[in-house]
Amino acid sequence: MRAAKCAEDTAAEAQWIVHLGMTGRLLVSRADAPVEPHTHARITLSSGRELRFVDPRRFGRLEFRDLHRDSGFAAPGAEPLTIGAEDFAALFRGRSLSIKAALLNQTLLAGVGNIYADESLFRAGIRPRRAAGRLSRAELERLRRELVKILRHAIRLGGSSVSDYVDADGERGFFQLEHRVYLRTGEPCLVCGSAIRRIVIGGRGTHFCGKCQG
Ligand SMILES: [Zn+2]
Repeated sequence: MRAAKCAEDTAAEAQWIVHLGMTGRLLVSRADAPVEPHTHARITLSSGRELRFVDPRRFGRLEFRDLHRDSGFAAPGAEPLTIGAEDFAALFRGRSLSIKAALLNQTLLAGVGNIYADESLFRAGIRPRRAAGRLSRAELERLRRELVKILRHAIRLGGSSVSDYVDADGERGFFQLEHRVYLRTGEPCLVCGSAIRRIVIGGRGTHFCGKCQG
């Protein structure tokens, strides 16, 4: 999911930036609660409780920026929820890297994670290995619309229940029940029945249907 920043206010003196990565979670616990495995940070809150950062796969990051010294956080890539069709298509023009890698490239689009990339490519019927710059305008527009739908949906579900979020273990997130390809390797495609395939692109597991994604 997206990186979050704790201070919008430009008059703030510091920012604490949380990148959840793939499996990162922030938990609020009583100070005497057992510390679960993969807890990388414990921060005492003014209430006496603790804010704990748990991240089994360690893709996440906590970052403190002193704004007297450092520049503030701004995502380098475009915002996928608000980018228009024209600007979205322009991001990929002339690029030879695969569309899957391009979607995950945070300097192009901010905050598109592995699940959302695989699921949006499936819904748009686009093979993940295709060169980003070779996709037609119609394909890119389909992809943009599917990506927006998925991100909106995920945010809505994730935002609806804090306890679900706290309990999530990364593989069993709120979005899991609706995965059509992600982590479904070998299972039948929900559209055509072919086995879902898994390949690795840019070091990331990539799940797709060889038949639906031509
Ligand atoms: Zn299929």
